[in-house]
Amino acid sequence: MVIDLVKCMRCHACVAACRVEHFLPLHITWAKLIAHETEMDGIAEVSTYPVRCNHCKDAPCVKVCPTEASHQRDDGIVLIDQEKCIGCRYCVIACPYQNRTFHSKDKNPGYFPGYEKTRFEKKGEELYPHEVGTTQKCNFCVERIDAGQERGLKPGSDWDATPACVNTCQARALTFGDLDDPDSAVSTLIRERGGFPLEEEFGTDPSVFYVDGKIGGKASNIAPEPETTGYHIRHLSTMEESAKKIFADSKVKK
Ligand code: SF4
Repeated sequence: MVIDLVKCMRCHACVAACRVEHFLPLHITWAKLIAHETEMDGIAEVSTYPVRCNHCKDAPCVKVCPTEASHQRDDGIVLIDQEKCIGCRYCVIACPYQNRTFHSKDKNPGYFPGYEKTRFEKKGEELYPHEVGTTQKCNFCVERIDAGQERGLKPGSDWDATPACVNTCQARALTFGDLDDPDSAVSTLIRERGGFPLEEEFGTDPSVFYVDGKIGGKASNIAPEPETTGYHIRHLSTMEESAKKIFADSKVKK
């Protein structure tokens, strides 16, 4: 996955899409926006950026798992088998990116404590149960990928085979695809725009890259074309014009 930090509006739509897609309990978040404060030449700088599991190629969470619940598929996606997870939380400590959360009953009072469960919570228990006492994290919407590929669809290109966060992003800041294919959109973005992973020094070889922006002292140095970065702004302007027209028409009718 590649995250374009210039296009990203920090709108949290990907965070909400992930929550809805997986019926996440309130205390669990798979996709997040992080605010990171650094000091550059005596001046404080705050960077905000989206994060999720990096699906590291050399994943410490997989190495420390005593039951092989945490495992990596041939396509690189790191998953947790809820049936095998014993809730030891070694992986939570091993992940240097803090991308794993333990699903504890004590911390899960529900969306509205003291009230009946919402329809969303009830549906989640039926359609996408999260076992209490297991560890949770982003799975790159593996269900969508697998179901789509069975139908001959291509992850990253076809909606039904692509993660929900990517589909939801109005700014088109997220790109998904095959990093092993040098001609894929993700490989091209990384190559042409100086993509970098988060905290490369951790040595876990992440599969999530960032382009066209700055995180702390790190920056990719090739700016995108203005027409590319302006896409979402133009798109919003078009929406604004449409809204104005609808409003004006409604006044005429009155
Ligand atoms: Fe494991 Fe953390 Fe890497 Fe995800 S980001 S694969 S949880 S080490």
